[in-house]
Amino acid sequence: MQDSDVIVIGSGIGGLSAAGLLARYGKRVIVCESHTIAGGAAHSFKRRGFEFDSGPSFYCGLNDAQSLNPVKQILDVLGESLQVIPYNPLGHYHFPEGSVAVYSNPEEYRQEVHKITPQGAKELQRFEERLLGLYEAMKGIPTIALRADWQLLPILLGRYLPSLAKMFFNLPIIQASVGSVMDATVKDPWVRRLIDLECFLLSGLKADGTIAPEVAFMLGERSRVGVEYPLGGSKAIVNALVRGLQRWGGELRLGCHVEQILVESGKAVGVKLRTGEIFKAPIIISNATIWDTYKHLLRPEDLPPAYRQAALDTPAVESFMHLHLGIRADGLENLTGHHVVVHDSSQDITTPGNTCMISIPSVWDATLAPEGHHVVHAYTLEPFAGWERNDQYEQKKTEKAQSLYRALEKIIPDIRQRVELELIGTPLTHAHYLRRYHGTYGPAISAGKGMFPGSQTPIKGLYRVGDSTMPGIGVPAAAASGILRANTLVSVSQMLELL
Ligand SMILES: Cc1cc2nc3c(=O)[nH]c(=O)nc-3n(C[C@H](O)[C@H](O)[C@H](O)COP(=O)(O)OP(=O)(O)OC[C@H]3O[C@@H](n4cnc5c(N)ncnc54)[C@H](O)[C@@H]3O)c2cc1C
Repeated sequence: MQDSDVIVIGSGIGGLSAAGLLARYGKRVIVCESHTIAGGAAHSFKRRGFEFDSGPSFYCGLNDAQSLNPVKQILDVLGESLQVIPYNPLGHYHFPEGSVAVYSNPEEYRQEVHKITPQGAKELQRFEERLLGLYEAMKGIPTIALRADWQLLPILLGRYLPSLAKMFFNLPIIQASVGSVMDATVKDPWVRRLIDLECFLLSGLKADGTIAPEVAFMLGERSRVGVEYPLGGSKAIVNALVRGLQRWGGELRLGCHVEQILVESGKAVGVKLRTGEIFKAPIIISNATIWDTYKHLLRPEDLPPAYRQAALDTPAVESFMHLHLGIRADGLENLTGHHVVVHDSSQDITTPGNTCMISIPSVWDATLAPEGHHVVHAYTLEPFAGWERNDQYEQKKTEKAQSLYRALEKIIPDIRQRVELELIGTPLTHAHYLRRYHGTYGPAISAGKGMFPGSQTPIKGLYRVGDSTMPGIGVPAAAASGILRANTLVSVSQMLELL
């Protein structure tokens, strides 16, 4: 039995953000991470000298003094920082009918689009202007100043009144889907597909399902500060958050799987580990997904049945096929780092295997691969259903990886001859290493059809953070969920002191 003020289950970005901030506020915090590597979806792993990102590789505002990225704001208050490598264009989108370079600067981006569709480029400008207006309103209120209860109001009124007024005028668009903004501004089918693709890359849903503030934030940040890659890979972000947590007295336990959240008389009182050990604390924060928390970590009787069922019925985005490769780099001097390949225009971009994301971060950070080599990560959506570790598993894996190889061949035609290390991951791999229900990317909550749930649960003292809570999926969003929860657990005066 060990005592602390807060136990955080999971060291994903949401868990580490909440834990670090609460430690900064003076709480005694323990993070229990099931895996032997911290970071959840953002963890990195090393094989034969190649350092692979397991998931995210697309970042902005990690090291900008005025950054709105919640990760940067947390690192600031923890006294940590990151070295980053800026790059531009931020990627290339390859459609069957042609490729387009995506620049951070909207003007440059539109010039690229203009080469394909001059009318579409004009419409894209109108679309961007609408969303950038919302970003202008949002940017006056930093996430680190937010909390998830009524006490937010005096903070906003006292410190951010002009920005609050701007937000007020943007209320209709804050609630809107990107699809409705697109319908009002863009008719060109090619640009509409481009917008759908950008939404899909962010939220796992197309424009109709994606909320306008999410894309407004992405467009605003990438045009203001540009995109960048953290030196050392995604693990550099995780390591900085862990250092920050430890600097303020918090503790991270790896290989520490929580089997159950202990609830007594409707109140969370601690956690039981797989080893049988029990840790006690009055506040438990679960960074496991909504499905994993409510299905595996609590007993059915701990939750009101209707609430539990509704939570477990939350629709989920599919899982992924992953291809992690270590390749020879000779002759690839002009290679760029981010690509998205859409194989077939007649199929929906969300069809598994049709849209493939590619990241080659060693073009920015050569330390990620042995000299003369590159690390490659390619991934595409893949449903969890139908995957089993049976006699056909290896063969199915190889077959399903082919759409990723075909996408890579568009960038590096002789990729197959260059491979020195090949790791194919399936939805089962994803679910296993990320400890995520069905290996999902996250909740498929469409704009207008529902909202991401907050971090409160019906159980006193139990909260949730991460990408199945407000504001949603992505590293900045998961960090924001951690901020919201941590701030809501302290007094306004503690928050103001920190601000
Ligand atoms: C392939 C891919 C690419 C992506 N690309 C980007 C990108 O470029 N940019 C971007 O911003 N976002 C991207 N994302 C999304 C982003 O990575 C995630 O939304 C975010 O990292 C999720 O963080 P989280 O806080 O929800 O925690 P998670 O990452 O889900 O971590 C939860 C942690 O809890 C632990 N855990 C679970 N159950 C237990 C238990 N019982 N006991 C102990 N520990 C437990 C897990 O092991 C895990 O470490 C990508 C995601 C994927 C999968």
